[in-house]
Amino acid sequence: MDLIEVSDIVRPRSEADIPPWQEGDAYVAGGTWLFSEPQPGVRRLVDLTDIPWTPIERTDDVIRISATCTYDELEAGGELLGGAGPLFSRAIRTLSSSFKTYGEATLGGNICLAYAKSMMAPVCCALGATYDLATPEGRSRRVLATLFQIDARETIRRPGEYLRAILIPAAATNAAYALRAHSYTPTSHATAMVIATRQPGAGGNGSRAHEAMALVVSAATTHPVRVELAPGAREEDAAAAAVRVCNKSSLLDDAHGSAAYRRAVVAHLAARATAAVGNNGSEEVRS
Ligand SMILES: Cc1cc2nc3c(=O)[nH]c(=O)nc-3n(C[C@H](O)[C@H](O)[C@H](O)COP(=O)(O)OP(=O)(O)OC[C@H]3O[C@@H](n4cnc5c(N)ncnc54)[C@H](O)[C@@H]3O)c2cc1C
Repeated sequence: MDLIEVSDIVRPRSEADIPPWQEGDAYVAGGTWLFSEPQPGVRRLVDLTDIPWTPIERTDDVIRISATCTYDELEAGGELLGGAGPLFSRAIRTLSSSFKTYGEATLGGNICLAYAKSMMAPVCCALGATYDLATPEGRSRRVLATLFQIDARETIRRPGEYLRAILIPAAATNAAYALRAHSYTPTSHATAMVIATRQPGAGGNGSRAHEAMALVVSAATTHPVRVELAPGAREEDAAAAAVRVCNKSSLLDDAHGSAAYRRAVVAHLAARATAAVGNNGSEEVRS
């Protein structure tokens, strides 16, 4: 930890105790990234982890995950998370950060960090999540996960806003999901990741006419991009849709893979993930 400009730390016990935002403030969740590198300009830390938000709650319609819910708490989510649980678990196991951080690193911290190679933001996009932000004026602002991150390390979060919760429609937990990711080594950043979704249609008669299918492409792109597929989409349809996403998006081009390589890997992963959800398949970590 090398936060030489920090002169104050506050630990509010409730949201009402959060001090008015000022220039130089940084919200702290697990601190696993914040304390891992110098933070020039940060003078006060506002630690959100003492606020007694319930990590995961479920009603008939919505699953509410608090921003400070840790990866360990997500993995223990069990019945509260339904089908979203295994998807979160696979994403956590695809992270290049150490398992030693899982008790501290939070879902909200990952989302607000907005890494291009975020594993958790794409999951929220696949689940159709909405983010509940608290504004400095004390209001709530709801933003779709798919609209929150707009570039690598860039979101639409305004100064002073903090993420309070991630809201997932309960119906999303009935869908089939498959996450496919590729990286050069088991511990390196992902080169590309694709999550395929298949939500059965109403009626339950086995017909695929009313189902909803989607892909979320990430790690190859600067931020997660979701695209809807036609009901009954096949592997080749998904690969073509994924290539279209790549052609319209900014692709990463670094030591983990050139843009052209990433485009090819995304198409391959999209086909494999779509084949898996077509068979009611589910999860796998890396290829
Ligand atoms: C070496 C290393 C490798 C990593 N590799 C990966 C990877 O491959 N894939 C991946 O997805 N992640 C990766 N991460 C990120 C990691 O998994 C954590 O998600 C991340 O460190 C943030 O978690 P945190 O809860 O500790 O947040 P913190 O470090 O406390 O905060 C992160 C940022 O978010 C802000 N913030 C936190 N909570 C809120 C909130 N509620 N409202 C507003 N702003 C907030 C903070 O001000 C800060 O800017 C890596 C991290 C490290 C250090």
